[in-house]
Amino acid sequence: MAIGPAPSADGAQDMRLLLDQAGRMRHRSAHDIGYPVSLDADFRAFGPLLDTLWIAIGDPEDPDPTRNCRQPFEREVVRFLARLAGADPDRTYGYVAAGGSEGNLFGLHLGRERLPDAPLYHSDAAHHSVVRAARLLRMETVRLPSRRDGSLDTDALHRAAARCPGRGAVVAATVGTTMLGGVDDLPAVRAALRPAGEHHLHVDAALGGLVAALGPTTLPWAFEAGADSVTVSGHKLLGIPLPCAVVLARAELLPGSSSGDYLGADDRTLACSRNGLTPVMLWYQLRRHGTDGLRTRIRRCLDVAAHAEHRLAALGRRPWRHPASLTVVFDRPAAKVCLRWHLATSGGRAHLVAMPHVTRTTIDALCRDLA
Ligand SMILES: *Cc1c(COP(=O)(O)O)cnc(C)c1O
Repeated sequence: MAIGPAPSADGAQDMRLLLDQAGRMRHRSAHDIGYPVSLDADFRAFGPLLDTLWIAIGDPEDPDPTRNCRQPFEREVVRFLARLAGADPDRTYGYVAAGGSEGNLFGLHLGRERLPDAPLYHSDAAHHSVVRAARLLRMETVRLPSRRDGSLDTDALHRAAARCPGRGAVVAATVGTTMLGGVDDLPAVRAALRPAGEHHLHVDAALGGLVAALGPTTLPWAFEAGADSVTVSGHKLLGIPLPCAVVLARAELLPGSSSGDYLGADDRTLACSRNGLTPVMLWYQLRRHGTDGLRTRIRRCLDVAAHAEHRLAALGRRPWRHPASLTVVFDRPAAKVCLRWHLATSGGRAHLVAMPHVTRTTIDALCRDLA
């Protein structure tokens, strides 16, 4: 396994090691119910695509078709998600980023450039990448409490904004918080910000955006609710087998072209050279499902989540779930059960996430373990 000076004597054997690794990962996934990733991917059809370089450079919406033949797929992914997020695709900038954390950095950077003196408001339930982005961007942060349902306490936000009248505000709101699946009330967030003056609202919808958009309980979660920038993950509900996220922003907020002559393309992304495979995987997956297929996928997950709630309640585990979330929070079981099922825990509570690979049978097996 070690990498040394001499070329490997047996490429086929090396490949077998990797196949074994994939097999172990697949086997484990039957018990992987604590993290909000989809483990039902099958992209083996992509094999024949792997003998060329999949690189995306610069903005996907570069209008010159001679420059990069792969961007039209990414452009369509961005347009599809922009529509889903309640935006006019013609007025929305976006690209496929390395993950939700890059998406948050992108959105908060836009906010800081727009309002350089404004503090960043976020709740204590925000993803840790928000705090890291603030540090990288040297933004002053105001950490606010979240409510019992995981949502930002908008009364506390209003009091904090009133302490800095007219300074402006950058806010990182969350749709689908990591531990509780909480959803920030975006209209209330915007109302609470009134004393601050101008604001930039970034929505981290890595986890909950699609459920809010396409689940039976539709919620104001993105541009129609006043968002300026939004992130949605690709390796979570969308089921892409490599980490990625779509970032979107109101196009008018983007700086003019920051092209290098060297690139010959506009580049307002954070990455310059990007993974070119994840955008086409997203395109393929979204084409395959369509909006209707995504609705079905979400309905199935919600059905499993409801089943989990029932079963856990019967076991006296006091389950709770936000109606627009796949996350079921319940009393923390013994350490070996948490370990076996990869349950995420916080204090006395644990959670499972009813992602597409989690079935009623999985939940029943967990409950047998708990009983
Ligand atoms: C998963 C997640 C992210 C980003 O995660 P990456 O691993 O960087 O893709 C950000 N915010 C929330 C709420 C998440 O659930």
